[in-house]
Amino acid sequence: MDISYILNELGEERSQYFDAVAPPVIQTSNFTFPNVEAMRQNLQREYDVPFYTRGNNPTVQILRKKLAALEGAEDALVLASGSAAISAAIVANVAQGDHVVCVAKPYSWTTRLLQNLLSRFGVTTTFVDGTDVRNFEAALQANTKIIYLESPNTFTFELQDLEAVAKLAKSKGILTMIDNSYSTPLYQQPIRLGIDISIHSASKYIGGHSDVIAGVICGTEEMMRKIFHSEYMTFGGIIAPMNAWLLLRGLRTLPIRLEQSSRSAAKVVEFLENHPAVAQVYYPFSTKHPQYDLARRQMSGCGGLMTISLKTDQIADVDQFANALRRFLLGVSWGGHESLVFPSSVGYSTSRPPGDPDRDFNFVRLYVGLEDPEVLIADLNQALAHIATS
Ligand SMILES: *Cc1c(COP(=O)(O)O)cnc(C)c1O
Repeated sequence: MDISYILNELGEERSQYFDAVAPPVIQTSNFTFPNVEAMRQNLQREYDVPFYTRGNNPTVQILRKKLAALEGAEDALVLASGSAAISAAIVANVAQGDHVVCVAKPYSWTTRLLQNLLSRFGVTTTFVDGTDVRNFEAALQANTKIIYLESPNTFTFELQDLEAVAKLAKSKGILTMIDNSYSTPLYQQPIRLGIDISIHSASKYIGGHSDVIAGVICGTEEMMRKIFHSEYMTFGGIIAPMNAWLLLRGLRTLPIRLEQSSRSAAKVVEFLENHPAVAQVYYPFSTKHPQYDLARRQMSGCGGLMTISLKTDQIADVDQFANALRRFLLGVSWGGHESLVFPSSVGYSTSRPPGDPDRDFNFVRLYVGLEDPEVLIADLNQALAHIATS
């Protein structure tokens, strides 16, 4: 199935709604039935047909089909946030006494789920450096149920070899999951590489306009049914029909948005790598990335998010750089039309923390959006002038 067909046609039944090009927002909580038998039939098939919008809604249903097809998965569930998707997928697959092996430094709320929340219910987690597959193998225990990945992560951009980890997990009967938000299904298809479940924060590129919070879980129909009948329905962290509609609209332009963001990011990376005030650029498709070959092998493209470290030991310099940017807005998140800057220094008080070598106050995450790349480079150039280089 080609991407154009998925984005423009798949799942849309236009003859049912006046041949409208844009699908309707079925903004209803409830569906009604002509008789008890019809109601009974839909109640028994809540995963597949409308009964009550916490379970199935026709607008959401179109989105599920498109997202599953993009990932090369049998089915998908859409939830209220990326965090809701991550929590539902993990909780559905562990019980008291189980163990999770998770790549080091995943999304911050994934860390909290595993470390602070699931530990209360007797689920333990080992975090491992994911750049070497042997670290996953060494961390496995008899009770390991999940290997959780995020490749690349969205701060320092370390990768995991998805095919190798999937092979290891399959040989031990362990479930694999990945947070695939960075790449989107267009630039990385983990399920085709053997990973069981692929998860997204759709708040980023999939929505693409910084106006929706949503999350996606993709996998086999059997797994989606399992999650649906437990965490999806009981936690009830579902997406609203209007937000599903906004994601459908966002999806129409996903390929061209990604392409523009990615092409501009390559120019920005080249500029930053040659600037004397920049110590390092963290970006998977930089030839200087230590896992560049792996990145090229398992990702068909690379998005607009990157991190730089600035050549300074002063938090004030980092603040000044971020404050001086005019075209990059100060904010968290990424994947929208607008370029963003998120300095690590925001987490520190302005007086330098007492010498801790691991402190990363001089890291600045940049997201390159849809603006003219030359405008963005000029903006970075004037802001970097605030960092004294000697
Ligand atoms: C934003 C993000 C999340 C969380 O998604 P929300 O939609 O904000 O809940 C998870 N993983 C990654 C990599 C993210 O960037």
